[in-house]
Amino acid sequence: MLGRLFGASRYVWNWALARRSQAYQTDKIKLNWVSLSREFTALKAAPGTAWLGELPREPFSQVLRDQERAFGNFFAGRARYPRFRRRGSRVRVRFTLDQRREQVARGVDAERWAYVQLPGLGRVKLRRTEALEGRLRSVTLSRDGAGRYFAAITADGVELTEPPAARTHAVGIDVGLRTLVVMHDGEQARAIPAPKALSGKLARLRRYQRHQSRQWAAQMRAQGLDPAKPVPKGVRLGMSRRRLRTRARIARLHAGVADLRGDALQRASTGVVREAEVIALESLRVKALARSMGRRGFRRSVADASLGALRRQILYKGAWAGRQVVAVDPFYPSSKTCSNCAAVNTALKLEKHWVCLTCGAQHDRDVNAAKNLRAEGLRMLADLSPATAERAGSDAREVACAAEAAERATVHPLQRRPTMNREPAQRSAQAARPARTETRQALSQTARRRVRAGL
Ligand SMILES: [Zn+2]
Repeated sequence: MLGRLFGASRYVWNWALARRSQAYQTDKIKLNWVSLSREFTALKAAPGTAWLGELPREPFSQVLRDQERAFGNFFAGRARYPRFRRRGSRVRVRFTLDQRREQVARGVDAERWAYVQLPGLGRVKLRRTEALEGRLRSVTLSRDGAGRYFAAITADGVELTEPPAARTHAVGIDVGLRTLVVMHDGEQARAIPAPKALSGKLARLRRYQRHQSRQWAAQMRAQGLDPAKPVPKGVRLGMSRRRLRTRARIARLHAGVADLRGDALQRASTGVVREAEVIALESLRVKALARSMGRRGFRRSVADASLGALRRQILYKGAWAGRQVVAVDPFYPSSKTCSNCAAVNTALKLEKHWVCLTCGAQHDRDVNAAKNLRAEGLRMLADLSPATAERAGSDAREVACAAEAAERATVHPLQRRPTMNREPAQRSAQAARPARTETRQALSQTARRRVRAGL
């Protein structure tokens, strides 16, 4: 039933999107969700699509509302034009929970299970990873590429937990691949290593990908096609049982790699936020992200993607804990500047260790960068006093953004900070998506570079 529901919600999303585009192109009218719901009712009565009527209707009105919001974001310039959902992409359906009667059996603390009663689906059993507190508002069920099912429950009226006290005043953090995070607190450095289990998974992934291409070529030959050429248009390749199995294995591994990576990033960002009152980090390098995926670009682009995810997490977790997060100017040469004498070593490439030609100081690349970022972040904060606030530009916005978020967090004290480091199901859609593409990019070229990249 859930499988049908996921498929149907994708169908309804794509149908509504097509209707909107069509109405705009032919009649220059913008359809809203009210008129779309009306059309949807007619669609359910139509002979070809009557199967929609057999499913619970709640998720479909949510889909239409979600799309309305997506268009709102697009028109406000906050997001791209909503896209069609492909088969095999992550799907989710949301149910609003009735406030008048209890739909969720929360289970006592000793139990690991909860039950939710959903219209049309009956009683769904959930493994609990959180205590279910407060007024439960909605349940979102989803299935990822590896066929795992998740439920995310929103609630309000949950007590806010006290943020932990910071250990030190300020840290600079450098994000990389060899070590996920290197922090410097002004006196000493601390490193958070990248997960070790990743390399084993990546090796296995490469093996399965070899199987896949062999099985794909075999299928081509079986259908009288040349495996060296692309599949001609209109031809559908058959799916053997072996190919299906390989595909499932690859999907599971992708999911496992994404989990490991996501979990490591969550732990790292939590660790960083616990550490200090002021957190200085590099700005996202927009240029580096736009750069093509050359051999050189690979390491940097993966690091940038991780940096992006970590940055987002540090920003919001920092806001919860009332920290100041400073993004240092992307053009500040944090790696190439000597933290001892401030000379810039323009000849520095990717060396792990280097010696300053001006003062002779010996540097670990990442520790030096973290040290510099800390100093630069503190300098920027001092500069951000009202008198000189104009010149800081985009960085000032960054600080303001964190501060504003912190304010919002205090305005609604009933929202509890979600527990960190839990199941991937708790990650929001926006957070999960970039992480996925990033892993894909990383995986397509992994093994050859694995050793060099230190994964
Ligand atoms: Zn120096």
